[in-house]
Amino acid sequence: MPCTMLWLNTGFRLSDNPALAVAIARGNPVAPVFIWPFEGEGNWPMGSASRVWMEGTLACLRESLRTRGSELIIRHRPCLAALDDLAAELGADALYFNWRYEPAARCAGEQACTYFKQRGFEVRGFNASLLAEPSELLNKQGKPYQVFTPYWRAFMQRMHVPPPIPAPECIPPPPVWPDSEPLEALSLRPKIPWDASIREAWTPGEAAAQRQLDAWCAGAMEKYAQTRDFPGDDGVSRLSPYLHFGEISPKQIWHAIMERTAGMPPHAHASAEAFLRQLAWREFAHYVLYHFPDTPAEPLRPEFAHFPWRDDREALDAWRAGHTGFPLIDAGMRELWATGWMHNRVRMITASFFTKDLLLPWQSGARWFWDTLVDADLANNSFGWQWAAGCGADAAPYFRIFNPVAQGERYDRQGVYVRRWIPELAALPDAWLHKPWKAPASELARAGVALGKTYPFPIVDHEAARARALDAFASIRGRLYC
Ligand code: FAD
Repeated sequence: MPCTMLWLNTGFRLSDNPALAVAIARGNPVAPVFIWPFEGEGNWPMGSASRVWMEGTLACLRESLRTRGSELIIRHRPCLAALDDLAAELGADALYFNWRYEPAARCAGEQACTYFKQRGFEVRGFNASLLAEPSELLNKQGKPYQVFTPYWRAFMQRMHVPPPIPAPECIPPPPVWPDSEPLEALSLRPKIPWDASIREAWTPGEAAAQRQLDAWCAGAMEKYAQTRDFPGDDGVSRLSPYLHFGEISPKQIWHAIMERTAGMPPHAHASAEAFLRQLAWREFAHYVLYHFPDTPAEPLRPEFAHFPWRDDREALDAWRAGHTGFPLIDAGMRELWATGWMHNRVRMITASFFTKDLLLPWQSGARWFWDTLVDADLANNSFGWQWAAGCGADAAPYFRIFNPVAQGERYDRQGVYVRRWIPELAALPDAWLHKPWKAPASELARAGVALGKTYPFPIVDHEAARARALDAFASIRGRLYC
């Protein structure tokens, strides 16, 4: 009997995997295949930290497939050629896959569709990663929304989130398994082992994702509305890498939250709502990327193409290394390097500091996040950076410039976060922790801090940098409404 090729390029899970479920329902043997490198990465080949995660994902997926009587066939060569060879080896007559919505990846999916349809294959692509098809929601003028609230209102009015599909109990195998390359052949691990602390911080895979979701629903979710902005608390779900790699689907999260909400006290409903709203921002970011495919590199608001960004290698290096002299910024950048993740509030503040205090181009900050985040996601990252720079959809206005000291004193009042990531400041009293350069010499000496030696002086004066940023903004304002 001809085989169905299941091309796994996103949605690395067995539950709520529409391509897998429909392939099994077709009644023929199913051959799951993974081709590397990803076709259609465009200018955004997978970053270093994400590759570390990818390796863990594939190892877990292969194990779960084996428990269902199946296998993961891995091939390391250009995608169409690899699929073509496999189709011949397997005697396949159908290709099923889940769509990736990033612009270049979508093109690659469309190419595969055309290629195999022309050869008489049955080809089907499914949505496994979003709550709604981005093409389905348009405003009254038939144009894409650029502001979140009306987008979300339209989503809630028109969209229905169907229940997730359970994982299959078994997957019918082909009579003979073609050769598979070993996972190591993909060289996903870095040559220099800088990734040990990332591996320690996370467990990739569908089972880990489900555990994380269960623990979240049973615990901290109830207080999300109060705790989500405080990076020192355990107040956010940390589901982002699992969502990015499709080890869990937004539908699964949506329904888990809905079920949990049913038994919650009234105050917790606000938390559930706030949390679903964040999932909605993810949805909106993907929607914006779908309709405005140039946004990873180009500002959505065209006047920002004329913005006088600076070129300052020293400032860029200090920011990347977490040596700016602003404790909250440095804590965030060090958390990012050590764990491949950063709290959302701190992402907003470090990105604001980068684009406004340092006046460095948002694209270059986005590149660093891309390489170092385990949840690096073209839609969310481009959207987040354009938001911070003030040039994107529904973005923070340019003149709203975060003060890194005030943000620290507000969201890390007791200094739990800064002390965790900047141990050299740990003994400073709370009053000076977010502005060590203002501390009296006696306090610095008592805390063992020697500014310029054990911890840097600030690389900019925030007030002066703020004024410089506003001047730069004023220089393009005339173009704002042309
Ligand atoms: P929670 O607060 O528990 O939220 C649940 C889920 O909602 C998240 O997992 C995420 O999928 C989604 N979500 C939450 N906040 C946002 C948001 N602001 N925009 C879009 N989706 C959101 N997120 C990524 O997944 N990948 C990125 O590459 C990325 N880059 C970012 C860059 C910048 C400059 C900024 C400001 C934000 C970025 N974000 C990115 C969004 C957000 O910071 C992370 O999704 C969030 O911190 C992940 O932690 P969590 O899972 O605990 O989030």
